[in-house]
Amino acid sequence: MKFDYLIVGAGYAGCVMAERITSELGKKVLIVDKRDHIAGNAYDYYDEAGLLVHKYGPHIFHTSSKKVWDYLSQYTEWNPYVHHVKAVVEGKLVPVPFNLNSLYTVFPPDFAQKLENKLIGYYGFGLKIPILKMRETDDADIKFLAEYIYKNVFLGYTIKQWGLKPDELDYTVTSRVPVFISRDDRYFQDTYQGIPKYGYTEMFKKIIANKNIRILLKTDYKEIIDDIKFDKIIYSGPIDYFFDYSHGELPYRSLKFSLVNFDMEQFQSGAQINYPNNHDYTRITEFKHLTMQNHHRTTVAYEYPQPYVIGENDPYYPIPRAENDEIYKKYAADAEKLKNVIFVGRLADYKYYNMDQIVGVTLQKFEKSIAHLR
Ligand SMILES: Cc1cc2nc3c(=O)[nH]c(=O)nc-3n(C[C@H](O)[C@H](O)[C@H](O)COP(=O)(O)OP(=O)(O)OC[C@H]3O[C@@H](n4cnc5c(N)ncnc54)[C@H](O)[C@@H]3O)c2cc1C
Repeated sequence: MKFDYLIVGAGYAGCVMAERITSELGKKVLIVDKRDHIAGNAYDYYDEAGLLVHKYGPHIFHTSSKKVWDYLSQYTEWNPYVHHVKAVVEGKLVPVPFNLNSLYTVFPPDFAQKLENKLIGYYGFGLKIPILKMRETDDADIKFLAEYIYKNVFLGYTIKQWGLKPDELDYTVTSRVPVFISRDDRYFQDTYQGIPKYGYTEMFKKIIANKNIRILLKTDYKEIIDDIKFDKIIYSGPIDYFFDYSHGELPYRSLKFSLVNFDMEQFQSGAQINYPNNHDYTRITEFKHLTMQNHHRTTVAYEYPQPYVIGENDPYYPIPRAENDEIYKKYAADAEKLKNVIFVGRLADYKYYNMDQIVGVTLQKFEKSIAHLR
C-alpha cells in the first residue's frame, strides 16, 4: 500500500497533522511511533488500581487561543479544572507563583501588609516581575523579599530541575518564574483551562479516527522507512536523530516519574505540591484532583529530574543555552534544504511548547505548507 504522508510521532504534532491532511485533503497517512501508545507525552491510562494517571507527568491544558480551544473541543468535553500550586517552604504551604497571598503565609501579618503596599506602590497591581529582575531593585524591603523568594522558592527548585544554577540558564527559562503582584492564585491566567473529560488518550483516539489514517506503534521510523512507499514525511521526532547526530547531540533534561498508589481517598490538599528545598524530587502530583475521579484509593507521581542519556531515558526539556541554539541552527539549516520533509513538534523544533502552542503551531504549519494542495 502506498501512503501520501509518513508521519513520525503520534503526539499532538503528528496526530493533528494527520487529522488535517485526511479531513481536508482526503489523503492517506501512516503514523509511526516507537512507543506502544498514541498521544505522545500527553498519554494517560488507567493504572492497576483503576486510577486515571498521566504517564509522562501531569498535563494541564490552558490556552488563550479560541482557535486552539475550539479545535480540540471537537474531540473532547472538558473538566473545568483550574490549576493551583503550592510549595513547601520552611514547613508551610505557600502559593506559587509567589503572589500577594503568599506573603501572608510566610511573614507576620503587619510585615506582609507592609510588603504588599510596597510592591503595589513600586510596580503596580497586576504585574508579573521575574524574580531575577526583582533582585536588582534598590528598595531595601523589596530586596529583602526578592532574596527570600530567590533562596526559598527559586534557587533549589531550579538547581534540581535543570542541574544548573540560574545564571547558567537562558533568561527565557528564569523569566518563567515571576512574582505576581496580585491576589490571583491561579497558576495560569489563560482564558480557557481544563482537562479532557475522558482523558487525553480518548481525545487523541477521536482526533485520528479517520479511515485514511493507519497507525504503527512500537516502531522506530528508521526500521521501516525503506520498506514502505510514501510521498512526503512529517517528522516530529528529535531533529538530531533524523540527521544521525551529524552536528552533535542536542542536550535535554530528562525526568523519572515514580507513580505510587495509596490506600486512602486523598494524599494531599491539591493537585501539585512543589519541594524546592527538600528531597530529590521536585514535585508530587495527585491525579484525582485533575481527573475529578471518584475512587477509594489514590495515585500520586513523584518527579525526579535526571540528566538525559540517549537510549536510556526520554528527552523532555530542551536546555535553552546559546551554545545549544547554535547546534540546533545547523540542523534547522539542513532541514530547510529537504523539500519532502516537514519538521514540526517540540523535538523537531528543539523547543519547549505547551500543548496549546504545539496545536497552534501545527495548525499553522498545515495552512502554510500543505493546505494549498487542496
Ligand atoms: C513533564 C512534562 C509536563 C508537561 N506538562 C504540560 C502541561 O501541564 N501543560 C501543557 O500545555 N504542556 C505540558 N507539557 C508539554 C507537552 O508534553 C508538549 O506540548 C507535547 O507533548 C508536544 O507534542 P509533540 O507532538 O511535539 O511531542 P510528543 O508528545 O513528545 O510526541 C512526539 C512523539 O514522537 C515519537 N518519536 C520520537 N522519535 C521517534 C522515532 N524515531 N520513530 C518513531 N516515533 C518517534 C515519540 O515516541 C513521541 O510519541 C509537559 C511536558 C513535560 C515533559
